[in-house]
Amino acid sequence: MTPLQIHVIGAGLAGLSAAVRLASRGLAVTVHEATDQAGGRCRSYYDSTLGMEIDNGNHLVLSGNKAALSYLDLIGARAGLTAPPSASFPFIDLATGERWTLRANDGIVPWWILDPARRVPGTRLREYLALAKLLRPKAGATIGEAISCSGPLYARLIEPLLMSALNTEPQNGSAALAAAIIRETLAAGGRNYRPLIARNGLSNVFVAPALEYITGHGGSVNYGRRLRRLALGADRVSALEFGDTSIRLTSSDAIVLAVPPTVAESLVPELPTPTESRAIVNAHFRIDPPAGLAPMIGVVNGMTQWLFAFPGRLSVTISAADDLLELSREDLAQQIWREVAIIANLADTMPGWQIVRERRATFAAVPREEAKRPGAETAWQNLVLAGDWTRTGLPATIEGAIRSGAKAAGILAPQ
Ligand SMILES: Cc1cc2nc3c(=O)[nH]c(=O)nc-3n(C[C@H](O)[C@H](O)[C@H](O)COP(=O)(O)OP(=O)(O)OC[C@H]3O[C@@H](n4cnc5c(N)ncnc54)[C@H](O)[C@@H]3O)c2cc1C
Repeated sequence: MTPLQIHVIGAGLAGLSAAVRLASRGLAVTVHEATDQAGGRCRSYYDSTLGMEIDNGNHLVLSGNKAALSYLDLIGARAGLTAPPSASFPFIDLATGERWTLRANDGIVPWWILDPARRVPGTRLREYLALAKLLRPKAGATIGEAISCSGPLYARLIEPLLMSALNTEPQNGSAALAAAIIRETLAAGGRNYRPLIARNGLSNVFVAPALEYITGHGGSVNYGRRLRRLALGADRVSALEFGDTSIRLTSSDAIVLAVPPTVAESLVPELPTPTESRAIVNAHFRIDPPAGLAPMIGVVNGMTQWLFAFPGRLSVTISAADDLLELSREDLAQQIWREVAIIANLADTMPGWQIVRERRATFAAVPREEAKRPGAETAWQNLVLAGDWTRTGLPATIEGAIRSGAKAAGILAPQ
C-alpha cells in the first residue's frame, strides 16, 4: 500500500532527494530538520570573517553522476553547474614545478592514453592498462591489494582522484568502491567525467530549488526539529518524538530516516553502521583569481590537493586530512597559502582567510567500514533508511546520497 503521509527526517541531500521524488509522485511530504538550515554536509553559509557566502566545503560532481543530474533536472537546477566543454584537468607537481593538462576524449575508447601530449607526463601505456585489475577486485580487497600503488600514473592521477572520491588514503581504501567510481567515470569515457562545479554556491543549486520544489508540491519543511526517539512497535513505527512535540503515525504513514550514521545508530536498535570517519579541510582566501586561472587545478606533492577558483575567492580542498586537525588554523592557512601563491603566481602576502575543518566529513571508505553499511529497508515496514553511508555501492558522495534518497522513495512509492 502506498503511504499517504511521509515524514523525511534530515534535510541533507539524501533526505531532499527522497522528498522531491515522493512529492513528484503526489505524496504528502513533511521534512524535519534538526538545525535551522537544510543541506547538511553540502551547504552554503555566510562567513563573517571573509564577509561573503561560502560553501562548507568545495564539492565536485562529475558529468557521469546520473542520479545527481536527474535530481537537478527534477528541481530545475542543472543550469547552476558550470562545466568545461570537455574532460580536462590541469595539474601541477609542486616538487618539480611541472604543469600539465590531462585531456580525455569523450568516447568510451580512451585513445587519449595513446597520446603522450594528452596523458599524464612521465607515464607509460602499460600503467593505464594495469588499472583494468581495479575494475574487478576480490571481495573485501583494498586498492593496495588490487593494483600497485606506486609509479607516475598512481602518484599523478590515481591517488589524487581516489583520495578525493573516497576521502580515504587510497592504498587502504576499498577496491570495490574505487571500482564503482572508475566504472562510472574514467572507464565510461570523457563525457562522463567532466568536472561540474556550483560556482555560485552549493545551496543555490542543490538545496534552495529542492526546498521550493517540496513546498510547491504541497509539502513542508520544519527546522529546529531534532528527532529524539522513534516509538517502535513489532513491525511498524508508531510515533516520532521530537522532545517538545510528538507525532502519532497512522497505519498509512511512513518515514525516511536520512540522518548521519551516528544518529541513525542511536535511533534504530541493532543497526549496523560505519563508525570510522575521515576529515576534510578547506582553506578559503579572499582574493580575485588571476585572469586565466583554471576553475580547478589538481596538485601533486603538496599539502594542497585541489585548488578551486570562485568569484572573489581561491579555495583549497584537502581530503583524508585527519593528520592536519592538530595543526593550528594559522599554521595551516600560512602553509596552504604559500602553495597557492606558487600555483596561481601570486604574491606571498596572505589575503583574508578562513579554515573550515569537517572532522567527520565522511565515513572511511575502507573494506571493514564498507561491510557495515546497511541496506535501505529495515525490520519496520514503514521505516526506510537513506544517507551516503547506507549501502549505495558508492563512497560517501553527493551521487551516493542522492541515489540513496531516490531508492528510499522508490521503496515507499514504487513508480
Ligand atoms: C567538506 C566536504 C567536502 C565534500 N566534497 C564532496 C565532493 O566534492 N563531491 C561529493 O560528491 N561529495 C562530497 N562530500 C560528501 C557529501 O557532502 C555528502 O556525501 C552528502 O552531502 C551527504 O548527504 P546526506 O544527506 O547523506 O547526509 P547529511 O548531509 O549529513 O544530512 C543529514 C541531515 O540530517 C540532519 N539531522 C541529524 N540528526 C537529526 C535528527 N535527530 N533529526 C532531524 N534531523 C537530523 C542533519 O542536520 C543533516 O541536515 C563532501 C563532504 C564534506 C563534508
